[in-house]
Formats: sequence, structure tokens, C-alpha cells
Amino acid sequence: MKAAFIRLPRWLVMPALCLIFISTLWGVRLWADSGGTAAALAPALLGKSILIDPGHGGWDPGMTGASGCCEADVNLEIAQKLAEYCRQAGAAVTMTRESDLALGDTKTADMAARVDLAHTSEADLFISIHCNSFPGQRGAQVFYESGNEAGQALAEHIQDSIRTQLNNTERSSMAHRDAYLLHQISGAAVICESGFLSHPQEETLLTDNKYQWDLAWAIFSGIAAYLGEAS
Ligand SMILES: [Zn+2]
Repeated sequence: MKAAFIRLPRWLVMPALCLIFISTLWGVRLWADSGGTAAALAPALLGKSILIDPGHGGWDPGMTGASGCCEADVNLEIAQKLAEYCRQAGAAVTMTRESDLALGDTKTADMAARVDLAHTSEADLFISIHCNSFPGQRGAQVFYESGNEAGQALAEHIQDSIRTQLNNTERSSMAHRDAYLLHQISGAAVICESGFLSHPQEETLLTDNKYQWDLAWAIFSGIAAYLGEAS
């Protein structure tokens, strides 16, 4: 059977190609606008202050990954991407560190400086970004201080968002048994353990630029859902 083609006159070929090109660009633009850009969620984050805490840094590299990658670097990369989404949505973001630096000469001094920043910034939300390490384990998990209702609600929203968007863990958020930061900071404060660097496949994901953006978007969406519900 002979296929049917619409034969365009030669003079119409270039205009038709141009039209297809412009339509494609416009379609991509519409897709980006409706695909949940950070600005589209602005009402929930507009005017909020958020303190983002990339764990470790400087002399304290944190956990070491299966192939040797350093937790402090991964934490900072994810935290910077999360900060960008939050700023796009109109939030005032403060970072506890912007580069590979510790906040004190000892672990105690470093943690005290992070708590001080949380207190002096009077931020609406405190999000600490870390990575985990334990043989045979994988999956991001968000922690809150037991009895802290705001922290628990924020953690649940972020965990739900990670579970549904990244689709690679069935973990639930959890009360932390012994987290100095969460113990010292009241209000909506959480620690996001972004995954297990000890798991080779998860280490590959956590060091991948696109996955870091996806994870940052999932955390951001959880923050927006929490603030949307709280307002
Ligand atoms: Zn850590």
C-alpha cells in the first residue's frame, strides 16, 4: 500500500520548518512554566527565612563514600541547589557555610556555631543536609527532634516528597535519638540524610549533578508543601 504524503510547494518548506521550530520552543517554554518551577510555588515560600546547613566542611570531611567521595562536598552541592530553588521562590536564604570550611576548630565549636546561627538568624525553617553511611543500607531519610511537632511535620512532608518524586526509597521520617543540632534548635528544624555514601550505587547518584538537582527539588517541594499547609 502506498503511503500518503502531503507535498508542500518548495517555497513553503522553509516557512513550515521555521513554524515547527518556533512551536517547539514555545512548547518547551510552556512545559517549563507549568512543570512546577520554583517561582510557581512562590506563595508558600515568599518572605520566609530559611537557614540551610551543609553538614561538615574544612577539617571535618564527614563520611567517606564507597569510592572515596567526601560527604562535606556532596552536602554543600545539594544545599546550594536547594538554596537556589528557595531563593527563586522568594525566600530569604542563609547558609551556615558557602565553601569547604568548618565553623570552628573543634567539633564542639563547629556545632555551637551552627546552633548560634540558627538562634541569631531567627529563621522560619532550619534544614541541615547530610549523607549517611552504613553497610547494606540505602535511601534518604529525614530526621526531627522527638516531641517537636513543627519539625516532625516538616520532616514528613520532605520525606513524602522524596519518596514520591525520586521513587527509590520506602523510608519514613524518624525522630532522631541523639542529634545535638535538633536538640538545640526549636521550631521547624530537620536533618536530611540524603542517602548512603557507603552504598556504591547511591554514592554514584549522590555525586551526580542531575540527581543532586532532583533531590534538591524534592526537598524544596516538601518545604513548599509544609509551608502551604502551615499558612
Ligand atoms: Zn554528616
